[in-house]
Amino acid sequence: MVNETNQVLTKDELVKEAYPLFINGEYIESANGAYFDVHNPATGEVLAKVAKGTKEDVDKAVEAARTAFESGKWPRMTAAKRARLLIKIAEIMRSRFNDLVRVEVLNTGKTVAAAQGQITQAIEDFEFYAGTIQTAGGQTNPMPNGFFNYTVKEPVGVCGQIIPWNYPLMMAAWKVAPALAAGCTIVLKPASYTPLTAYMLADICHEAGVPEGVVNVITGSGSEIGPYITEHPGVDKVAFTGETETGKDIMARASQTLKRVTLELGGKSPNIVFDDCDIDGAVDGSLFGIFYNTGQSCEARSRLFVHENIYDEFMEKFIEKASRLKLGDPFNKEVHVGAVISDSHEKVIDGYVKLAVEEGGEVLYGGKRPEGPEFEKGHWYMPTIIGNVTNDMRIAQEEVFGPVVVVMKFNDEKDVIRQANDTIFGLGSAVWTKDYGRAHRIASAIRAGIVMINSPISAFPGAPFGGYKQSGFGRELSVETLDLYSETKSVVSYVGSRPLNIFGL
Ligand code: NAD
Repeated sequence: MVNETNQVLTKDELVKEAYPLFINGEYIESANGAYFDVHNPATGEVLAKVAKGTKEDVDKAVEAARTAFESGKWPRMTAAKRARLLIKIAEIMRSRFNDLVRVEVLNTGKTVAAAQGQITQAIEDFEFYAGTIQTAGGQTNPMPNGFFNYTVKEPVGVCGQIIPWNYPLMMAAWKVAPALAAGCTIVLKPASYTPLTAYMLADICHEAGVPEGVVNVITGSGSEIGPYITEHPGVDKVAFTGETETGKDIMARASQTLKRVTLELGGKSPNIVFDDCDIDGAVDGSLFGIFYNTGQSCEARSRLFVHENIYDEFMEKFIEKASRLKLGDPFNKEVHVGAVISDSHEKVIDGYVKLAVEEGGEVLYGGKRPEGPEFEKGHWYMPTIIGNVTNDMRIAQEEVFGPVVVVMKFNDEKDVIRQANDTIFGLGSAVWTKDYGRAHRIASAIRAGIVMINSPISAFPGAPFGGYKQSGFGRELSVETLDLYSETKSVVSYVGSRPLNIFGL
C-alpha cells in the first residue's frame, strides 16, 4: 500500500488504535470515556477501538453544527468558494485513495476491487456537487401586474445523517457531499461495524478547510443515539440509509418535530431475463447483480426471473460461472467475493437459506459457509442459488442482504411484470432483452426507483438513486438531492407605481 508520499503504510500506521468522536473540528472523548471494538470481518481480529458516544455527546455535536450553521459563514459562503472546498476534499481523497481503500477493505471484508470502485465514486460525488451548485438556484415566476416573485434555495439547516455498513465511505459521500453543497451542517453517524472511513472523511473535510462544526462524526449504539438524533429538536433533517424497519421508526420519531426526512431503505429487486437477450451478457450481469459486495447491496438483484425458453441454457451457465467465483482474502485481486459483515449476519443469511429449503426451495449451488483453511476465521457465505421458488415464499419476499438469489421461470411478459411488482419494495430492477420496445415497456411498468436495461450497474453521480414503496423516498446522487437539503423561500414584492390600498380606506 502506497500513500501520497510513496511510502508503504502498514495496517498499524493506517488504522489508529483509538478513534474518539469528531466534534467541532477536534477529536474528543465520549462523555463517559467508553469505547467499543471494531473488527475485520475477513479475519475476525480487532482493528481498532471507537468511541461509544452518548446522548450528551449528540447534544454537543448538534450544538456545534447549530453554531456553525447560525454563524452564517458556511451557509452564506458563495457557491464558487464552497465548490472549491468540495473539489479540495475530492483532491485530498484522491491523494489518499489507496489508504482509504485499504482501510475500507480491512473494516468491511469487501474485495479490493469493490472498495476501489466505491471510493472512486465517493470522490466523484464531491466533484459532481461542486459543479452542480454553481448553477443551482431559485427562479422567477409569472405574477399579476405590479408583483414580482423570485425564489431562493436556502440550506435546510442541521442534518443528522445515519448510514449503514455495506458501503461505508460511499454512503457517507452520498450524504455529506450534497449537504455541504447546499450549505447545511452535519452530524454524521456511521454504522458501528464500519466507522473508520467516516472519521477519515471528517479529517479530510477539516484539512480541506471546511469550518469547525460543519462536519461532526459521532459513533455509538444505533439503537440509543440513532433515535436521539432523530428526535433532537436541534436537528432540522434526518437523512437515513438502512433497513426498512429502522426507516419506519425514524419516520415516526421525526414526525414529533416535523423534521424533513429522506429514507433510502431495503430492496428485493427483480432481474428479468427474456429469451431474446444476449445470454452470456445476461449471465455475467446477473452474477454481478447479486454477488457483488457479497450480496450486501440494497439494490442486489435477488429475484431472478428467467424465460422458460432459455431457462436450462441460462441456468447451466449461471451455476457454472457462480462455481468459478473465488472467495478469500479480500486483498487478493483474484478474489471476486469477500466476507460478510459479522457472525450474526452470517447466521441470518444461513437462516434464510434453511427457511427457503423448508418452504420447498432447492439449493442449486452454495447454501453454506465455504470450506478450507482460509475460512476458519472471519465470516463467510458461499454464493447461493435457490430454485423451485415461487414469488410468494418468504425467501422471495424478504431482504436477505447476502449472496443469495432465488430463481423463477416465466413465460409471459405481463405476468412477469406482475410478479416483479408483487413486493413491498421498489428499489432496483433489471431487464435483459434485445427488444428495446419491450425494455422500455418494462421500464415504464416496474414500480421501482431504478431500472437497469442490459446493465448490472446503475449508481452514477447524476443518475437519481432511491426507492418506491417501502424502499423509501427521496433521491440521492443527483441534482434533485440538493433540493432535499434545501428550503425554497418565495419572495414576493409589490413593484407597482401606486401604493396598494386593498381595504379601500
Ligand atoms: P440498519 O437499519 O440496522 O442501520 C443503519 C444505521 O442506522 C446504522 O448506523 C445504525 O446504527 C442506525 N440505527 C439503528 N437503529 C436505529 C434507530 N432506531 N434509529 C436511528 N438509527 C438507527 O441497517 P444496516 O444493517 O446497517 O444496513 C443494511 C440495510 O441498509 C439494508 O436493508 C439495505 O438494503 C439498506 N441500504 C439501502 C440503501 C439505499 O440506497 N436504499 C443503500 C445501502 C443500504
